[in-house]
Parts: sequence; structure tokens; C-alpha cells
Amino acid sequence: MKSFIEFWVSAIIKILFVLSGAAIVGLFGGVTAALITMLFGLLILFFIQLFYLYKLQCWLEAPVRTRLPDGVGLWVGVFSRLYKLRRGIEKNRFELSEWLTRFRQAMHSLPDGVVIMGSGLVLEWCNPVAEQHLGFNLKKDNNMRVTNVVRSPDFFDYIIGQKYDVPLHLSFRDRKLIVRIIPFENNRQILVTHDATESDRIEKMRRDFIANASHELRTPLTVMNGFLEIAEHQPDLDQATRMEHVQLMAEQGMRMQNLVEDMLTLSRLESLDVTLPTDHVHMRDLLDKIYAEAMALSATRHTISLEVSAPDIIGNAEELRSAFSNLVSNAVRYTQVGGSIKIVWQMAKEGPQFLVQDTGIGIAPEHIGRLTERFYRVDKNKSRETQGTGLGLAIVKHILLRHRANLVIESVLGRGSTFMVKFPSSAVYQDSVVS
Ligand code: ADP
Repeated sequence: MKSFIEFWVSAIIKILFVLSGAAIVGLFGGVTAALITMLFGLLILFFIQLFYLYKLQCWLEAPVRTRLPDGVGLWVGVFSRLYKLRRGIEKNRFELSEWLTRFRQAMHSLPDGVVIMGSGLVLEWCNPVAEQHLGFNLKKDNNMRVTNVVRSPDFFDYIIGQKYDVPLHLSFRDRKLIVRIIPFENNRQILVTHDATESDRIEKMRRDFIANASHELRTPLTVMNGFLEIAEHQPDLDQATRMEHVQLMAEQGMRMQNLVEDMLTLSRLESLDVTLPTDHVHMRDLLDKIYAEAMALSATRHTISLEVSAPDIIGNAEELRSAFSNLVSNAVRYTQVGGSIKIVWQMAKEGPQFLVQDTGIGIAPEHIGRLTERFYRVDKNKSRETQGTGLGLAIVKHILLRHRANLVIESVLGRGSTFMVKFPSSAVYQDSVVS
């Protein structure tokens, strides 16, 4: 309303100004002179408006690059309003571009792939993770049908089938992907891909572990049940046979107990975080205990030696004792009577090393890389005969991982093996003395 009044007041003032000029001229020069003056005045007013209209048109052709013209009279208001409008648009554009940048950054840092498909399932936009998952190239494949780019019959069937309430589990380019499609807007869809390769692997490991553990427990249980049935159905068995059966059942019981204990140790180790244990580990004491255990287990069937020349380290004494004792008991169990076993704690250039060297049965090269897998055994019978569970080296691997140490296995079939644990030099307990 205000601008409406302003406009008309200003226009009327200008016209009145011309009319009063014409009236003054008419007083002295007569009606004709007054009419000519009025016409002339109105023409000037008209051309001034035309001039500013022209300036406005020139500015409108390139409003961003050219400066807004200065005006007079009514045009000052027009141009100042246009200026405000332009500032507002520029501000909105800036905010929009900022928002777009933030949106792109968020999409780029998403761990999942996001694809926007237009009508006809054409690729309109995707983030870099989707490019990796589905093998797109946004620049090259833009506006292509996604089913032509992702060459997988399962993916094709899923998209065409349009049953999007259930996700698709897709094996594609060595990955296990979970694909979801969410329709939005008319004919537009968002496709989300989630890489489930690692969780699938863990799930498979869990299934394998349960299957292996059940299998390992079933065998001794079957044996025990067998003897119990005999005891039930043959009450007149002689004392010697009965004692033999009891002894065999006790062995199976021990086997199950070892297995359950190893499984519990493994699960406890897995649930611990990977922060480095930082206790002072007195290596001399620890190795003396391990040596005594080895002597007891060997029962003079082997020659066992211990050599300690490296300092103490930082770590968890209980865990290290369990790892070293596993390696030493393996050496005893897999070395024939009369063989020798060397236990060494020494300092190398890279750091302290624990070494168990035996002259035992040795391991063929194809098995070496898999020995630390749970339940992996070169010879199942041999392992069972000596109360093995197949979990010892898996436990060792976990403990060493927590101590940033590496296990190196060298072996020659029929000649013997060396299991070497290499600690980083940072593991050395400062101020420790070799005793
Ligand atoms: P197990 O309880 O069966 O000994 P481990 O995990 O300790 O399980 O060892 C896995 C396998 O590695 C063993 O079954 C055995 O075949 C092999 N192994 C481990 N240590 C030795 C060794 N010192 N000499 C020969 N074979 C070994």
C-alpha cells in the first residue's frame, strides 16, 4: 500500500510540475506555447522512463555479472528492491551450495553405497562406495540402466521382481552385499548396498566352530555312552575288564575337560580388548616353571634344555605362560622318545625371542600356514592320542596378537620343528637384568 501511494504521489508531482511549467509559459506566450511546453515536458518524462526501462532490460540480460544501474525518482525504489531481491537470491544460492557440499561430504563418508535411480532404473547419482560395490563409474555410466551396468542375474531378477520389502543377499565381485531398494518420489528409487563380507566370514567361522566343537565333544561322549551301556547290560563283567572300561571313560572325560577349558580360554581371549598388557613379566621364573612342566610331561623320554639370555618383558605373565607352555608341550607330544627339545629365551636385533626347537615328527610345508586355525590338526589321531584339542596354537596366536608378537614356524618333515615367538624391542622391561 505504501509503495502504491509513493508511486502515484511521485507520478502526480511530476505531471503537476510539467503542467505548472506549461501554465506559466501559457501566461506569457498563449495557449499554443502552453500546449507545446506541456507536450515537450511529457515527452521528456516519457523518454526518461524509456531510458531507465532500457537500463533495466540491459541489467536483466545478465543480472549476475552487471552492476545494478543507479536510478532517479521512482526508479530508485525499483532498483533498490531489485538489489534486495538479488542479494536474497545470492544468499539462498550460497546456502544451497553449502548444503549440497555438506550432503556430498556426508554421502562420501557413508560406509554404505547409495545409488539414486531415475525412472526406467537409470543411474542418476551414486556415492564412491556404491561405485566400488557395484562397479559403476558415475561419469561413464550416468543415465545407463543399472541392470545393464551390474551384470548379475540375481540382481536383475530382484530389480525386475520388485519385491523390495526383503533385502537381496548378493555375491558380486568377491563381495557379499546386502542390497535394499527404497522407492521415493514418482518413479525414483534409492538403492543401498551394504558390504557384509566380513560379517559373513565371522558368521561362517562361528558356525564352523560350533560344528567342530560339537563333533569333538560327540566322539568322547559316544565312547562313554558305549561303556555305560555295556556296564548296564553286562553286569557280570570281570573286574579287570570293568577297570579297563573305567580307565577309558576317565580318559574321554579328561579329553572333554581339556576341550572345554581350551574353548573357554579362547573365548575369554577373544572377549578381551587388544590393548597391550603392561605387567612386568619375570622371564626367568616363568621359564623355570615351563621347563619343570615339560620335564614332568616328558617323564625322562626326551632330553630337554633351557637357555635364558634375554631380559624381562612387559606383558601378561599368565597369558604368556599359557602360550609358551602350549608350544613346549606340543614339542614334547610330537617328538619321539629319545628326541631332544631346546627352550631358548634370547635377544635378537629386532627384539627378544622365545624359541622351542624339537627333533620331532616335523610338519609338511602345506600344513604350516593353517596350524593356528581352530581345530586344525595335521594328524587327528596323533593329536588325540596325546590329549590334544586342536585349539592350542589358536590360543597361542590370540595371546601373541595381544602382545604385538609374531609366531614363526619352521619345520622339516621327519626332522623336527622350530616355533619362534618374536617380540618387538619395545616389549623389553626397562631396568630388567638377565638372571
Ligand atoms: P593339538 O592340540 O592338536 O596339538 P595345536 O593347535 O596345539 O593342537 O596344534 C595344531 C597341530 O599342529 C597339531 O595337531 C600338530 O599336527 C601340529 N603341531 C603343533 N606343534 C607341533 C610340533 N612341535 N611338531 C609337529 N607338529 C606340531
